[in-house]
Amino acid sequence: QEGERLQKVLSRAGVASRRAAEEMILEGRVEVNGEHVLELGTRVDPETAVIHVDGSRVMVNNNLTHLLLNKPTGILCTMSDDKGRPCIGDYLRERQGKLFHVGRLDQDTEGLLLITNDGELANRLTHPSYEVRKTYMAEVVGPIPKDLGKRLRDGVELDDGLAKVDSFKLVDTNQNKALVQLVLHEGRKHIVRRLLKHVGHPVERLVRTRIGDIQLTSERPGAIRPLNRQEVGSLY
Ligand code: URA
Repeated sequence: QEGERLQKVLSRAGVASRRAAEEMILEGRVEVNGEHVLELGTRVDPETAVIHVDGSRVMVNNNLTHLLLNKPTGILCTMSDDKGRPCIGDYLRERQGKLFHVGRLDQDTEGLLLITNDGELANRLTHPSYEVRKTYMAEVVGPIPKDLGKRLRDGVELDDGLAKVDSFKLVDTNQNKALVQLVLHEGRKHIVRRLLKHVGHPVERLVRTRIGDIQLTSERPGAIRPLNRQEVGSLY
């Protein structure tokens, strides 16, 4: 018989034990090529089957790597630097040659950076048409006027066109500084710094905390962790 039993493919992909994977199939949580599968004996081709569990894609082809790096400030967003300056490749050591970073953070920006060996995924996620929501925390020069959120949501005209945020929140403030959270779904160069400078609140520290469904948790600057199954699934 061709293919492999679905519960075995699921367990090898790290979804659950074979026994628990059988339960998931019986509970109707597993789809193969867009169809719910309820039969325990079902065989699939692990090379080509598109499998979802609870709506998240299961990566069966396990030579794919998906990492989260909490990029420290002061580090260049390149895999290697010919002048020997510190760069994200330093955090990936011998793996760096095979990995791509998804988009960029400025040298002085910290936080969530996705890294993968799936070049097609990296290209797709970096493309301007990939309008996933990205969340940033910015320490800015204050004080923040009451109407700033509305102004940023309505949009401001920058040199290269209109820029607007999906949401804006004042998180904390004192006399002359403020901590603000912004969500944007675009990725023009220096966009957050340019936007906040334009409205009179230059950025003093910038941290990206979230991309789509993937969030920084308690990783220290410089720490790397593999994405979990749900996180990987959310990218495909
Ligand atoms: N916006 C910026 O200004 N810098 C970044 O690194 C990311 C978004």
